This record gives sequence, C-alpha cells and structure tokens, in this order.
Amino acid sequence: MGVLTAERPATAPSRRETMLIGNEWLAAADGRTFFVENPAKRDSAIAEVPRAGAADIDRAARAAAKAFETWRTTHWKDRARALYAIADGVEARLEELARTLSSETGNAIRTITRAEVRGAVDTFRYFAGVASEVKGETVPLGPGVLSYTLREPFGVVGAIVPWNVPITISAWKIGPALATGNTIVLKPSADAPLAVLELARICAEHLPPGVLNVVTGLGEECGAAIAEHPLVRKLSFTGHTDTGRSVMRAAAERIVPVSLELGGKSPQIVFPDSNDERTVDGVIAGMRFTRQGQSCTAGSRLFLHESISDDFLAKLAAKLSKLRIGDPLDEATDMGAIASKRQFEKVCGYIAEGAQEKGAKVVIGGTPPSHGPLAEGYYVQPTVISLVGNDWRIAREEVFGPVMVALPWQDEADAIRMANDTHYGLAAYVWTRDIGRAIRTAHALDAGFVQIGQGGGQLPGQSYGGFKQSGIGREVSLEGMLESYTQRKSVTINIAN
Ligand code: NAD
Repeated sequence: MGVLTAERPATAPSRRETMLIGNEWLAAADGRTFFVENPAKRDSAIAEVPRAGAADIDRAARAAAKAFETWRTTHWKDRARALYAIADGVEARLEELARTLSSETGNAIRTITRAEVRGAVDTFRYFAGVASEVKGETVPLGPGVLSYTLREPFGVVGAIVPWNVPITISAWKIGPALATGNTIVLKPSADAPLAVLELARICAEHLPPGVLNVVTGLGEECGAAIAEHPLVRKLSFTGHTDTGRSVMRAAAERIVPVSLELGGKSPQIVFPDSNDERTVDGVIAGMRFTRQGQSCTAGSRLFLHESISDDFLAKLAAKLSKLRIGDPLDEATDMGAIASKRQFEKVCGYIAEGAQEKGAKVVIGGTPPSHGPLAEGYYVQPTVISLVGNDWRIAREEVFGPVMVALPWQDEADAIRMANDTHYGLAAYVWTRDIGRAIRTAHALDAGFVQIGQGGGQLPGQSYGGFKQSGIGREVSLEGMLESYTQRKSVTINIAN
C-alpha cells in the first residue's frame, strides 16, 4: 500500500489525525492506525491516521443517509452558498494546504501544489455556479397530457480518490455531488489523506453534519467497504484501472451506478512542422514531468515523425536536463519526489526493464540517483527511452512516473494507428501548425480529452473522462454533473379532465 502499516517508524510522527463522520472527528472504532510516508525522506513518516474499517464506514454511511433527508430538498441557493463559502475557505488557506500536499505527495510547491489548490477553489466555485441547472425537460405527448422529467439526487455517494491530485479530485466529486443534493462518504488514498482532511475541516464549517464524511483507510478494507455498503447508492471512483474493475464488480452486485476515472497511456503526436522549442515545452507539460509524470493524462507515448525524431529528442533532452529536482517544499524545485516507496520501486522496475530491451535507447535519465541528497528520497530523473517497440510493456502499461517512450512514424495513418493501439483512451495531444491535419487527427484519436497545440490539464466546464478502459462517465462539467450525480424521474399528468 505504500503505507507503513506493519511497523511503527523509528521516530513516531507528531501529527496524529482523526476523521470526519457526522459532525464528529473520530479515531477508528477499533483504534487502528496507519502511517503516511514522507516521499522526500526514505522510510520516514509524517503522520499517523485512523485506519477505518467496516464499522466506521457503516457509521459514516448512516450519517450521510440521515443528512440526505434534508440536504436533498435544501434550496439550490443554500447549497451554492455553502460551496462558495468552501471555495473562499480553501482560498484563504491556500498556502497551508499546498504545503501539506507537497509533504505527502512529493509534488513541488511552486510548480504543482499551489496550482492544485487553486484548481480546487475554481472547481467549488464552478459547481456553486451551476447548482441552479439541475432541471429536466417537458415531453410532447399530445393534448390532455403533461409529461416532464425531474433530475433527482441518488442519495449517499461513495467517492474514492487517488493520491496524485488529492484536493482537486476530491473537489471534482464533492462539488457536483453536493450541488445536486447528494451527500457523500469520501475516502482519500492512504498515501495522501492529509490535505483532504484539512479540506474536510473547511467544508465542515459550512455544511450541515453528515453531508460530507471523510474516512481514511486502506483500499482493500475501507474502499471496498464503501463500495459494498447498502446505503451507498452511487459510486464515483478515480484510480487505477484494475481497482476500478473491482469497484465496478461490487457495484454490479448491488446494481448501483458507477462512474470510473481510470488510468491512461496517452499519445502525443508531433508532425514535422512542429520541431520547435514551443512544442518541446508543450510536450514536457503534456507529459506532466514536473509532477513526476504522476498524472492520469500524462502524454507518455511520444510519436515523432521520423524526419525530426533525432533532432526533437536532442532538444527535449536539453530542456529536461535543466529541470531542478529536489525537496518539494523548496521554492527552487521544479520537480519533486515520487509519492511512495511502492510507486518508486514500480517506476524503477519499468525503467530497468525498458532500458535493457533490444534496440532501446535511453535518451535521458535512467537509473535513479544512488548517492547525494537525491538518494535520500524517492527521486527519479526525467527519463525518455526511444526506439521502443509499441508492444513492449513500457509502451503499453501505465508507468505513472517521469518515464516517456518515443517512437518514430512515417505517415499520418501510421501515427494514428499506433497511437490508438492501446486499451486506454484518456487523453491525447496533437502538435502541428496545419489546422486541417490537427482537427483530422484529433477526430481520429480514440481518447476522451484531446488537445491541439497545448498540454494543459482539465479545467472546470470541460467534459472530462475516458474512452475504452480509461473509464465510464464524465466529470468536471455541467453535463458530467447531471450525468454522474442525478437520475431522471418522469412525471405524467392527465390534464384532459
Ligand atoms: P488505486 O487504484 O491504487 O487507488 C485509488 C483509490 O482506491 C485509493 O483511495 C485506494 O485506497 C482505493 N482502493 C484501493 N483498492 C480498493 C478496493 N479494492 N476497493 C475500493 N477502493 C480501493 O490508484 P492510485 O495508485 O491511488 O492512483 C493512481 C491511478 O489513478 C493511476 O492509474 C491513474 O491513472 C489513476 N487516476 C485517474 C484519474 C482520472 O481522472 N482518470 C485521475 C488521477 C489518477
């Protein structure tokens, strides 16, 4: 799990947390805890956190079900007011939240975590703004009949989030669920629960008891107990595709709707007219190198036209070699640490395997630092491996680290075929100045989130979600909110007599 659950670390962390159930801050019912790792210092912990079990989840689900009785009919203006107040509260504590995020995720404060907190603020404001839009349609059944639809909340939403973008992804779920009148039991990852608990403290100041409950624990016990709880009427999961599969299985048992935001192995296609510095910067941004590649939308497969491949890779390596890797809390740092020992070992394993494949060429990076300050934490240099086979594990599986593979192509159809040759379909990036070719390529790619000429993240209002095994359902937008957090009710009235 990447948590020091088995043994107490040599120095017990001074930070001890409780979790939010109803309006109480509680330890686990059986008193169990786990430790949150410090990514910047091997084998050390920064906090001790409750390890919620089935009894805690039951208590949280009951609190959420009780709160639903009034929250479902609370006027949208009051729900919106609460979300605006939460946004203001998060904004007021931006620096504190960003520091906590950096210390638990390893993401750099200057390049990543302050922006992540701003992303959560924007998300809460966006969903406050669309809270009035939960409405249905009239259906033309002819004279004498009035038929219309209502959009109603499901009840208790079980929301499960990963460690890589904890605050923003929590906001993507809390915002639309509460705006539409649902209540929530939310579980952050055991690797990064601390900033989400701070967020919960802010939310609790502005919400009635039980509307938001945040439980901390391990996936296979706490996450699974949420997925299986009979009072949870909707599941919204973000995480690995394999975990999503098991959440969907649990949902199938109880016939509960499920939204899944899963993994990716996203392509970036560079055409010959874009062998320039601007595109190199964009490709680095699309790969999310400054968040150590730990992003579901990381453009980790780089398809370069063969005429520019060597030159582009040389430019890319030159830029990547200038990224300053180091302490996530240092303002000079561009790129921080991998979030956990488990993830670090996984990433190093992929690099070692990919680099030794026949014909592979390590353009930059490779072996992680074995001495000096960077050897003290889970640091991995930006790594690019070229001349990779599109069927190798490193080209097919999600590494979730700062590891990019580069493959040459000859014609447009070939590039699109290789880009689509994956079981994932989350994001894609197209780099060309030819607008017709750009749009043609964007339409031909099997991905839910395509960008042309930029490598940005998802912003509130953009419909976001994956094709193929990258997920089911949409988030972060008005239509995502209506689709994922409401169910239609059809009402028909005889008005003839
Ligand atoms: P993960 O699947 O290991 O864990 C995600 C969450 O699920 C955690 O809270 C975890 O505790 C919980 N969990 C684990 N086992 C469970 C189970 N059996 N039942 C219920 N819950 C369980 O993923 P991770 O390592 O935390 O995050 C990285 C993954 O998340 C990557 O695959 C990444 O692509 C994906 N991700 C996707 C998006 C997206 O929007 N599509 C965004 C961020 C991350």
